[in-house]
Amino acid sequence: MSEHIISSMRVHTVFIPAKAVHSHGSGDVAGINAILLELTTDTGLTGWGEASPWPVFTGTVEGNTAALHTHLRPHVVGKDPVQVETIMSQANKIIVGHTEAKAALECALLDITGQISGMPIAELIGGRQRDAIPMSFSVANPDFAADQDDIAALWEDGVRLFKLKTGFADHKFDLMRLEALRKSYGDAIDLRIDYNQGLPAFDAIRCIRDLEAFRPTFVEQPVKRHEREALAVITKAVDVPVMADESVFGVRDALTGVALGMADIFSLKVMKSGGIRRCVEVAAIARAAGIEVYGGCMFETSIAHAAGTHLMAAIPDLMLGCEFYMSTYYAVGEIATEPFPVKHGQVHVPTAPGLGVTPDPDQLEKYRTASLV
Ligand SMILES: [Mg+2]
Repeated sequence: MSEHIISSMRVHTVFIPAKAVHSHGSGDVAGINAILLELTTDTGLTGWGEASPWPVFTGTVEGNTAALHTHLRPHVVGKDPVQVETIMSQANKIIVGHTEAKAALECALLDITGQISGMPIAELIGGRQRDAIPMSFSVANPDFAADQDDIAALWEDGVRLFKLKTGFADHKFDLMRLEALRKSYGDAIDLRIDYNQGLPAFDAIRCIRDLEAFRPTFVEQPVKRHEREALAVITKAVDVPVMADESVFGVRDALTGVALGMADIFSLKVMKSGGIRRCVEVAAIARAAGIEVYGGCMFETSIAHAAGTHLMAAIPDLMLGCEFYMSTYYAVGEIATEPFPVKHGQVHVPTAPGLGVTPDPDQLEKYRTASLV
C-alpha cells in the first residue's frame, strides 16, 4: 500500500502526421493515431501511458478510448496506483480485448510507481540488462528510390539494422530491393524481412527460399495470423529464422506457438500483450522454449516507445534489437519534452524514475484531436 490515490484519469487522442505514407502490407499508414492516458494522484504525481491501435492489426482508437474512458476509468479513480496487478486483473474482468488500452493503463501505473520508488520502469520489472538497444528501421516506401535516400541518411546516423516490408507489391520487386541493398552495403547491413501476413500459404516456402540467397537475418510473419499450422510448416522448411508477430499476441498464443513449433522468434509488443509485464510473461515462455524475442512496436509516439524500451532493457540475452524509431524518423513532430533518445543507431534506455518520458504541453495541444476528462 502507498499513501497515494489516483484522483483523475484523462484520455487524450492525438494524430501526428507521417513524413511520407508507408505501405505495410496489411494497410497504408499516414501518421500516428494514438491515445495518451494521463493519471494524476491526490499527492500531485502524474503518470503517462499510450494506446496506439492499428485497425488492421490490434483495434481502433475509438474502441480503446471508450474502453478507457467509459469502462475502466470508474474502476481506476480512487485506487492506489502501486497495486498494479490488482488493477490490471480487474481491468481484464471489466472488458475483454482492448490490449492497447490496458497497455496504456499499466504504463501510467508503472510510471507513477516508479516515481514513488525512485526507480525507472526497467528496474521495477527485474533490472536493467543494458543501457542501449540496437534500432531497426522499417523500409516500407513503395518508391524505392526515396527509400534508398532514407537508408543512406540513416546509415550516416549509424543505423545498421533495416527491415524490408515485403509482399505489398510483387515478388520481383522484393528480390530487386534485397539485391540492391546487399550489393550497396555488403555484409555490413543487417537485413530483415517482414511480410505482414502478405504471402499466400500455398506458395510461401518457394518465395522465402528465393530471398534466402540475400541472407536475411529473419523473415517475419509470412502468412496470415490464424494460419498457425502453415507457419509451423514454413518454419521447419526454410533455413532463415522465422518470426511470429501477428500470430502471437499474449501468453496463450505463445504457448500455442511453442506447441506447434510455429516460429524461431516472437515479436514482443506491449500493444499486443496488454502491457509491459504481460510481455515479460511472453518472453519467459519464449526463453523456456529456446525462442528468441524482438522489440516490436506499432505506430507510436515516444510514450509507448519508452514503455517498449524499458521492457527490452530488462529482457535477458537480447540479440535482435528493437524498432522504436517512429518518433525519430517517421513522424513530422515530437510529442515529448525531449527528442526520443535514438543516437548512432541505438535506442538509449531512459534513466529517470518511472517512464522517464513526458508529453510537452504545447506539443500535446498541437497534435491533440480530443480530450475526455
Ligand atoms: Mg510485423
